[in-house]
Amino acid sequence: MKDRTLLMIPGPIEFEPAVLAALAAPTTSHIAPNFIEAFGQALERMRQVFLCPDGQPFVVAGSGTLAMDLAGANLIEPGDKALVVNTGYFGDRFGALLERYGAEVSQVRAPVGGRPSLDEVAAALQQEKFKLMTITHVDTSTGVITDVKGLAALGQQHGTLVVVDGVCSVAGEELRMTDWGVDVALTASQKAIGVPPGLALLVAGPRAMDAFRGRSTPVRNFYADWSLWLPIMDAYESRAIGYFGTPAVNLVWALNVSLGQILDEGMEARFERHQALSRACHAGIAALGLGEVPVEPGFAAHTMTAPRYPEGIGAADLLPRITAAGAILAGGLHPEIRAEYFRIGHMGAARMGDVLATIGAIETGLAGCGYEFERGAGVAATAAAG
Ligand code: PMP
Repeated sequence: MKDRTLLMIPGPIEFEPAVLAALAAPTTSHIAPNFIEAFGQALERMRQVFLCPDGQPFVVAGSGTLAMDLAGANLIEPGDKALVVNTGYFGDRFGALLERYGAEVSQVRAPVGGRPSLDEVAAALQQEKFKLMTITHVDTSTGVITDVKGLAALGQQHGTLVVVDGVCSVAGEELRMTDWGVDVALTASQKAIGVPPGLALLVAGPRAMDAFRGRSTPVRNFYADWSLWLPIMDAYESRAIGYFGTPAVNLVWALNVSLGQILDEGMEARFERHQALSRACHAGIAALGLGEVPVEPGFAAHTMTAPRYPEGIGAADLLPRITAAGAILAGGLHPEIRAEYFRIGHMGAARMGDVLATIGAIETGLAGCGYEFERGAGVAATAAAG
C-alpha cells in the first residue's frame, strides 16, 4: 500500500510535485546565472502575488517568525508606539517581538474565537498616535480571519503603518496590499505559498520603505536589517551578483516554481478556490455536529478550519485515528483552549478531493472513538457544498 497520508495541518502543507522537484535539483552557486534569473523572477512574481506593484520584496532564509522580525526590527525604534490587533497566539507573538525592539505596545483584544470590531480599533487609533499597527490576517491558533481591508483603511486614516502577518493567508486569502492600503505583508514559505519551510517572505510598500529610510537609530538586528538585504534584492532583480548571506538556493528555485503556478492559476481564481474549500470543510464539520472556534461564521478563515472536539473526546484519542484513516491534522495551539479543538489546513495545493478525504478520515476517527453520528453525513455535506 502506498503511504499517502495527507498532510492537512495549517502548514507545512502538501506541496506540488514540480516544487519538490526543484528542491531535488543539484544545487548551484548562489551566483550562477540560472539561479540569479530564478531569484530575480521570484522577486518580480512576489509583487504580483502580494498585489503590490510598487512594493519592495524580501526573500530571506528563515521561518515566518523571521518575516515578523524583518518588519519589527526595521520599522520600530525605541519609544515608538505600536498597536496590535490581537486575535490569538500570533498577535501575542507580534506584541512581544515589537517590545523587544523598544516599542510601547498597546493591544486591542477579543475573547478567544472573536475579533476586535472596527469601532474598537478606531477608538484605540483615535486615543493615541501609533507609528504602526499589526494585524494577523488569519491567526492560526484560532482560525479567525480579520477584516484587513477595513482595518487597513483605519490605519491609513490615522497615518499609522499597517503591517499584516499573512503567514496563514498570503496566496490563499484575498489580500490586496496596494488597493487596501497595507504597508507590509509577510509570510513564510510553508503555507499557502506552497514551498517547504525555510523562507521568510515580505513585501514592503512605499510608506513602509520611507519610514525605514527615515530612521534615526540603527536597526537592532543584524541579520534582519533591510539595509543589508536591499542591495541583494536589487542585485538579483537587475540580474547581477550580490552577496550578504548565502541564499537558500533550492528553496528559492522552488519558490519561483510555486509563484509561477500561483500566477498561472490567477489570484482571483485562487482566492475563490480557497473559499470553496473552506465552504466544503465547514459544511462537513457542521454535518458531523461539531462546533468551531470562531464565534461567528464570518470570522472563520478560508485557509484553515478549527473544529471543536465533541464532548468527552480529545486529541489523544481522536487525532491518531484520523491519521490512521489517511489525514494528519493538528491539535490545538491557543493556550486558553488548547485541549478543546483541532485544526485542519486546506490551502495551497489542497483540492476538494483532499477535503473530502479529510472529512472522511475524521468520520472514521470519530466512529472509532464511539461518537454517535450518521456515517457519511459529513462527506455528503462536504461534497454538496463543494
Ligand atoms: N504567524 C502566523 C499567523 C503563523 O501561523 C505562524 C506559523 N504557524 C507564524 C506567524 C510563525 O511562523 P513560523 O512558524 O514559520 O516561524
